[in-house]
Amino acid sequence: MQKLAEMLSSQDIEKIFKHVHTGVALMERDGTLLSWNPAFEMIRNIFNSKFKLEELLPAEEKDRALAKISQGALHHWVGEFQIQGDEGSTLCNCMAIPMRDGRTTLIVESIESEFAVQEIIIKLSKQVKLFRIESDFTKKLAQNKQIEMEAVMAQASEVAHVDALTFLPNRRTIVRVLQDEVLRAERYQSMLSISIVDVDHFKVINDTYGHPIGDEVLRQVSHQLRDHIRHPDVVGRYGGEEFLIILPNSDAKAAVEQAERLCRKMRETVIHVKGHEIKVTLSIGTAPLRTEVDTWDSLLNRADNAMYEAKNRGRDCWAVAD
Ligand code: GH3
Ligand code: MG
Ligand code: MG
Repeated sequence: MQKLAEMLSSQDIEKIFKHVHTGVALMERDGTLLSWNPAFEMIRNIFNSKFKLEELLPAEEKDRALAKISQGALHHWVGEFQIQGDEGSTLCNCMAIPMRDGRTTLIVESIESEFAVQEIIIKLSKQVKLFRIESDFTKKLAQNKQIEMEAVMAQASEVAHVDALTFLPNRRTIVRVLQDEVLRAERYQSMLSISIVDVDHFKVINDTYGHPIGDEVLRQVSHQLRDHIRHPDVVGRYGGEEFLIILPNSDAKAAVEQAERLCRKMRETVIHVKGHEIKVTLSIGTAPLRTEVDTWDSLLNRADNAMYEAKNRGRDCWAVAD
């Protein structure tokens, strides 16, 4: 160590330790700095070569350090010093290596640089934490948007499939159900029947009570139909005051039983709207599917014809297609 220090004393420290991060300086016995590398300069922020070690040290450290150096201690010594620079003080680990010519090689390493690194780490970890919170928030926002979008899509799908007045499946939807059921009945050779239900003399109700009350009557008729059919039968609004009922796995007998029941229920029902007591009757045309003969629309035609047959018979009754 001594030899190394002596060898260094004969060289230019600034050049030898140019790329070293530890501060290295050469000084006289009285503490006058002779030469130093860039890292040392960084620590003390000196721009003036006539600087003395004692000028760098705070009062409480000065005496101890100078006493050791001026004694020309033969052994190296180490200590922790608060070195005063232009931009505040820096806590440093110092090692002084005395040389035979009375000079001292001083090696200084900033402890606070570790604190600075720690500060950067803390700052970065705070940023990472903030970023995580932000990304969680963004995720939640995206989830909420997804839920909102699904709700809007569900609403849109409902609007597309449901009749706005009665909340029954609309014409398009009930016809789609009919098409599917006809295909299914043909594939599995199963039975299928349908009924077209028409409100009798509905025009008179509109003319007597007005259109809004007519609407309410239609709503209540649709509830009666929905409440008096059995699973898996489906009822939809087929037209103004016409409804289509689909009866999967049902023959004409089952459809007729249902038609009879619906006619009776409607006949016995008094509809109350805004102080009025209104009674309506139904005409129902029923048609069982003839597999390998009927298509969905020919089946509809047969049911429609049967419904007109019921009208012709005097209304408030049902008829079955041939
Ligand atoms: P029929 O016994 O021969 O079926 O006689 P009807 O009066 O029921 O038949 P028509 O086809 O002559 O008249 C049906 C009426 O139903 C005419 C139409 O204004 C009315 N209507 C259709 N849709 C609605 C609706 O959504 N609300 C109301 N209030 N009336 C409707
Ligand atoms: Mg009609
Ligand atoms: Mg009618």
